[in-house]
Amino acid sequence: MKRIIFVTGTRADYGKLKPLMMAVEQSIEFELHVYVTGMHLLTEYGSTFKEVVKDGYNHIYIARENMPTYNMSDDLGKSISNFTRYVGEIRPDCIVVHGDRGDALMGSIVGAFNNVHVIHIEGGEVTGTIDESIRHAITRFAHFHLVANTSAEELLLAMGESPQRIKVIGSPDIDVIIGQSLATIDEVKESLKIPFDSYAVLLFHPVVTEVGLLQQQVTELFKACKESGKKFIVIYPNNDHGSHIILELYKQLEGDDSFLFFKSVRFEEFLVVLQHADFMIGNSSAGVREAPYFGVPTIDIGTRQMGRYTKDDISITHVEYNRKEILQAIVSLPRRYTVHHNWGQGNSAELFMNILGSEEFWQIPLQKQLSYKE
Ligand code: UDP
Repeated sequence: MKRIIFVTGTRADYGKLKPLMMAVEQSIEFELHVYVTGMHLLTEYGSTFKEVVKDGYNHIYIARENMPTYNMSDDLGKSISNFTRYVGEIRPDCIVVHGDRGDALMGSIVGAFNNVHVIHIEGGEVTGTIDESIRHAITRFAHFHLVANTSAEELLLAMGESPQRIKVIGSPDIDVIIGQSLATIDEVKESLKIPFDSYAVLLFHPVVTEVGLLQQQVTELFKACKESGKKFIVIYPNNDHGSHIILELYKQLEGDDSFLFFKSVRFEEFLVVLQHADFMIGNSSAGVREAPYFGVPTIDIGTRQMGRYTKDDISITHVEYNRKEILQAIVSLPRRYTVHHNWGQGNSAELFMNILGSEEFWQIPLQKQLSYKE
């Protein structure tokens, strides 16, 4: 049986990796090993490792020795050493990583340096902040790229990745959205104790190159939200450099009945909350991915999702970190959009298993060579 390690570091990658992990767990050809690290371990961000444990995998390792600090490069170094030891013990045939976080970079480096096949899910996309550099660095180390759409494929080809290493499988989010029977909004409101009839979802992350401006950015955002008179479900950011500034400001707002705070919401419940929101505001990837999928309007603030959408993405309104501009966007939003998406058909897990089961995949050389075009 071939051993496959999945690295999960955050709620963000777990929601997307889960359908693939479940498919591997149920297969008789492969043995799934789950390595849980990064932000999942942090109590102040919701201890989301518990969600992974609850899902009941046979082989799961909680890498408590990787407890994150507020220094992303220090965390990366530490986790590379620890994961190297783990890989030495498990001796996997393949390591699967997702997206653009330090945990995925760690997994791809350890795999590439130890001659283990690395699959990168959802490479070839673009964003602002340090995630942009991380994602493309992962591309360089990964041996195989399973991307969400042909735009991502084109970017990887333009980066010189070889066509035989790239396959479009769609985004595994869509598997969860259309494949599962998600709870009703009333059930989710009850389970999360949401008292609002209508609400918006607010999710705002630091941009690590703009940390000096963060306090002012968040203050402008919250003033606009308060003045709008609407209710907001506020979800904590991820633990990127600067996030503690956001958390401090959130603590000052606790008790204000316009805002209901969550450290993190389980992916399946998050999807239901988002689907029924009046709009999404902030700079989360959910505003440019899941919200448009549901036709929910997005107010995307600042640079973090830069390059990830165009004027044709009609459900997304871009604003700067400015109270008036944000408020104006809130009061002028329509209720819903009809949006066409290109994130796949909801069969990513099936396509993933077909690739894992193919000779072609296992014969792909571990020595990479960039292919140059004229
Ligand atoms: N997400 C989730 N629960 C939450 C907040 C977000 O499952 O409480 C999911 C969300 O659907 C999205 C992903 O996590 O797919 C990324 O969201 P986040 O804003 O945390 O990170 P980003 O991708 O913007 O770095």
